[in-house]
Amino acid sequence: MTTDTHLRRTKIVATLGPATDAPGMLERIIAEGVDVVRLNLSHGQSDDHRARAVAVRKAAEKVGREVGILADLQGPKIRVERFANGPIELRDGEPFVLDCRADAPPGDTTRVGVSYLGLPQDVHAGDVLLLDDGLVALTVLEVVGAEVRCQVLIGGRLSDRKGLNRQGGGLSVAALSDKDKADIKLAAEIGADFLAVSFVRSGADMDLARKLLHEAGGNASLVAKIERADAIPVLGEIIDASDVVMVARGDLGVEIGDAELPGLQKKIIREAVQRNRAVITATQMLQSMVKSPIPTRAEVLDVANAVIDGTDAVMLSEESAAGAHPDKAVAALRRICLGAERQFEPKEDLSTAGHRLDRTDQAIAKAAMLLASEVGVRAIVALTESGATAQWLSRYRSAVPIYALSPFDDARRRMLVLRDVQPVKFTHDTLNPAVSAREAVRQMFAMGKLSDGDRVVLTHGDHIGRGGGTNTLKLLSVGAEGMVESLRDL
Ligand code: PGA
Ligand code: MN
Repeated sequence: MTTDTHLRRTKIVATLGPATDAPGMLERIIAEGVDVVRLNLSHGQSDDHRARAVAVRKAAEKVGREVGILADLQGPKIRVERFANGPIELRDGEPFVLDCRADAPPGDTTRVGVSYLGLPQDVHAGDVLLLDDGLVALTVLEVVGAEVRCQVLIGGRLSDRKGLNRQGGGLSVAALSDKDKADIKLAAEIGADFLAVSFVRSGADMDLARKLLHEAGGNASLVAKIERADAIPVLGEIIDASDVVMVARGDLGVEIGDAELPGLQKKIIREAVQRNRAVITATQMLQSMVKSPIPTRAEVLDVANAVIDGTDAVMLSEESAAGAHPDKAVAALRRICLGAERQFEPKEDLSTAGHRLDRTDQAIAKAAMLLASEVGVRAIVALTESGATAQWLSRYRSAVPIYALSPFDDARRRMLVLRDVQPVKFTHDTLNPAVSAREAVRQMFAMGKLSDGDRVVLTHGDHIGRGGGTNTLKLLSVGAEGMVESLRDL
């Protein structure tokens, strides 16, 4: 692994799969910089995911880095069923029937079953249905009983279980399937740090997922995958009901058309950050690296642009799960993120930041960032039990690293998705916050994160051991041996 002298601010999510099951690969991608791994519950059996989760915790321990686990629900992805004799070839202009009966026989060149039996109620003549992420398209001619009769608009090969979307969205299938409900229990059981809900349509979808997760005993952060056209008009409501959002460009691009993606990516990132949520930009970031050891120039620019847009994290899908070079793909992400961070300093404008202050820790966070930018400090050190203060601090894009000190392993792992935040294990052995603050600075000094003469901004609460209570802001100077000195002159 290459050691970087600069702290990387943007976080890296990598999807696990057969390629990362190769001996030693998990350790390698973690050493290269993966912060969070994604278990894609659309593929594989429960036991595979259990085994991978155990392997991740072991590999992280071995490498000496903290790594979060994100369990990603399959969601109600609508699919065509299987074909009797393997893949078929559809030609432009030919008729083709989607057979929405529960007992539809295996498909042939004229028709195939569909996993969503409500499809005939949701579509009308003239609708365009996209199969296999838009590689094949059908125009609906008429709906007769359980049959959706179509004409092939864009021909191509169609094989078993390919996805089906309607252009423009609007299919009313519920966000959580029975499999998803079972997988929420699995996520709680394996101690997932993040739970991603696919094809979210509303805040209520997220509320339901959160309720089921809590009932199952899980405390993961909830990720809303923005991948349906219907999610866009209610984006604010969905973001507010989530902890993290994902710009899920794969399915989103199919429903809304690729030309809308760049604008929407910027809008989703901006709205998430303004509403105090973290945001992951996902899908096809380094797609050519599924085969190639180096990214294309266009991919380099795409990753860098997501960083400049202000994303918290970038994600690998097939590149790490099933590609030939998972470790090189992670190394490429790390390199590109660092380059973009070096060359594009975030413009801080705290006066116009779209935050309404209605909590004490939020007000302290804003004041801390103002101080950090006006006075010039080496770091911000936040004593935070739950991570709430770190999340507020990191919503103000700045170049100053935020060290978030928490005694709780799960709270630290949930912070791994936050841009600029470096979670650090810190166990208080005192209930006196002033003593604890001095201890914190000494520990950061001992770790080499602070040096003699550095100025730091420190935040903490009055009550050690209680979350959400940050109400104190200090500007300190680090002296010899990491002793805290008070500052008179700036
Ligand atoms: P998926 O979600 O990889 O689970 O489909 C991401 C996307 O659609 O972009
Ligand atoms: Mn998707």
